[in-house]
Amino acid sequence: MHIPSSIILEVSALCNVSCLGCALHGPYGFVERSFGNMKREIWESVIREIGSWDKKVCVSAHGGGEPLMNPDLRDILTLARSFPNIEVGFLTNGMLMDESWAEFIINVNLDWIAFSIDGVTPETHDKIRWKSDLAKVEKNLETLLTLKKKKQSVVPRVKLNMVAYDAIMDQKEAFVERWINKVDEVMVSHYRNPPESKRWPNVPEDRKPCSLLWSQAVIAWDGRLGLCCEDFNIDHSPGSVGEDAGLLELWNGPEFTKVRSLHQQGQFAEHSMCRVCDTWAEAVESKIFFHEKGYRMVQTPSQTVYSR
Ligand code: SF4
Repeated sequence: MHIPSSIILEVSALCNVSCLGCALHGPYGFVERSFGNMKREIWESVIREIGSWDKKVCVSAHGGGEPLMNPDLRDILTLARSFPNIEVGFLTNGMLMDESWAEFIINVNLDWIAFSIDGVTPETHDKIRWKSDLAKVEKNLETLLTLKKKKQSVVPRVKLNMVAYDAIMDQKEAFVERWINKVDEVMVSHYRNPPESKRWPNVPEDRKPCSLLWSQAVIAWDGRLGLCCEDFNIDHSPGSVGEDAGLLELWNGPEFTKVRSLHQQGQFAEHSMCRVCDTWAEAVESKIFFHEKGYRMVQTPSQTVYSR
């Protein structure tokens, strides 16, 4: 039986912001499934099951929405941190990440948090991230960094992610400069517009099986298991965790076993979503560079990660 090393737990599919590239809440969003918060009986049974595995697992408590929209988030993180084999963190738009939240995530020993911030100027940021406010997000981030320093805490590791949309492409260097000495990692991601484009630049021609099929489990807010992080609409679900079977049982069931087998046989075109997807290349195409200012840069087809 395969056991995933990474879980995407969509604790909420609701959001307080509408970003240009968002498949769920953006102006060009195409996802048709309903949106809501994950119910207690789902997240509790999933986390307890993961906690029973004899393997280190990274739980990303985010999905298509903003995790802080779920009023249970403190309980979710507290339960996850109570299991020694679980590493947990989440991606946030930062709008609700106030001082009480900063205090909480440091005290609960959250492993990592990633803020999505697109660029350095409010004029472009607040247009790309509609209903967001760059000044407020930066203030919330600075509050977290100050508190973390004051408490001399090494966690959470703080990461930032900027999507390099055409309109802010020229802000990439300024973004890295603005934050590289304050946070642990600065990521600059390529923009693409699924479902028409699941393509990344610099993908090798020699296609390999997608490692995500053996490493990643995605659970939507309503408990349905998705094929992978590219299954935005949860179109390829074998069923619901808890309702139909346990997480491992569903993830090792006949539907996903068949997709794994197609990949092992090189029959990528046989699956409607894998056929047009480049995300498999993330695991096989990675280059390390050093910026002229000495930063380490790890480049994959989808993004560049800068660290000191
Ligand atoms: S190739 Fe793409 S669609 Fe297929 S499993 Fe990998 S990430 Fe998902």
